[in-house]
Amino acid sequence: MMFWNHWTYLRAASARAFAAEELPETGIAPEQPTQPQLAQLDEQRQAQAKQYARQRQWLSLVNLGISALVILVLLFGGMGFALRDALATTGQWQPVAGWRPVLVALYFLVLFAVSFVLGLPFSYYGGYVLPHRYGLSTQSFGAWVADMVKGLALSLPFELAAVLFIYLLLALTSATWWLWTGLAMLCVTVLLANLAPVLLLPIFFKLTPLPDGEVKQRALALAAQARTRVRGIYSMNMSSKTTAANAMVIGLGNTRRIVIGDTLLDRYTQDEIAFVVAHELGHQVHRDIPKLIVVQTLTTLIGLFIVNLVLHAVVGSVTLYHGLADPATMPLVAAALGVFALILLPVTNSYSRHVEHQADVYGLEATRDPQAFISAMTRLANQNLAEVEPSPLVEFMLHNHPSVGRRLAYARANADRFRAGETA
Ligand SMILES: [Zn+2]
Repeated sequence: MMFWNHWTYLRAASARAFAAEELPETGIAPEQPTQPQLAQLDEQRQAQAKQYARQRQWLSLVNLGISALVILVLLFGGMGFALRDALATTGQWQPVAGWRPVLVALYFLVLFAVSFVLGLPFSYYGGYVLPHRYGLSTQSFGAWVADMVKGLALSLPFELAAVLFIYLLLALTSATWWLWTGLAMLCVTVLLANLAPVLLLPIFFKLTPLPDGEVKQRALALAAQARTRVRGIYSMNMSSKTTAANAMVIGLGNTRRIVIGDTLLDRYTQDEIAFVVAHELGHQVHRDIPKLIVVQTLTTLIGLFIVNLVLHAVVGSVTLYHGLADPATMPLVAAALGVFALILLPVTNSYSRHVEHQADVYGLEATRDPQAFISAMTRLANQNLAEVEPSPLVEFMLHNHPSVGRRLAYARANADRFRAGETA
């Protein structure tokens, strides 16, 4: 998707997962009942993992290339202006000087539809064909389509409202629109991060409170040890979509909770699950969700400020634009934001990997059980087809969690210290 995607933005800001986040697109491995013994790395599945990662990277590159091509054609092929002129007669209504909401909405919807249709074969291949080929998806084609329609129904009205709001600001206050946009996004992010676990996640998954038992007892003991209040520990029916395992901390304030996939609860030993819970508690103790929201807001403000500079420079020198609030500036805004996001990607991913490493350290200190961590990570790599040792460049650019290899190496190198209860 070539536009600023609120849904992705929100997901990144409001949840911290245990493993690299592949939630909507992946799935599990062959039947593998809970094994009390320590997990061993499956070499055959590692070979598959490498292949799968390579294919997804190529797919992302092609996708990016097509988005760039569409924007370039709109920008330099004159199509952006032609579209505005074609829609001009129906979109003249101007409730505020310079703000033509009907024209802005139609323009946005045409671009959205074009990018959606062009992206469809890639969404289908990357989201349905590949996960099925590797045995990671448990979704039927109908269920996959239903999820896509739900995602679209959630994000489209949202993005449309955001675009209308931004173009209203561009018409009203061309110097400080970027600041108000950034602040409005902060408010919306906080609100949605709070509502995500009670309103958004249940649209895709069923959440059930963890039943009383050993797992819950150990989780509550770890929470007491962390001196953090757990507002709820839930199991999520990930198995309805995927064979992959994951867990996360999600929500803000009174909705904050720990969510564990049934694909993890069903197949991992109690010691391994205890480590996963401790890792998630680490995120709560370190206040990682509020911190991430702050980091995202700051980077968004910088991005919008750069867009502001680009907009003023280009609109000032190209007479075909009828001012900043002209919807024909949309491809320009998308291009500037896209380039900025691409440059920022390795920076935000580095920060995310740091946060994840800190949560691992917390989990190791809290459980004093490096063996359980090593075994859980190994099981996860086998099950989720995670590449244990990706190329350092790919890890630097694209991974929001340290590679499994790095996480294992850290635990092995410091195992004695953690077992003895020393702090890092
Ligand atoms: Zn984490």
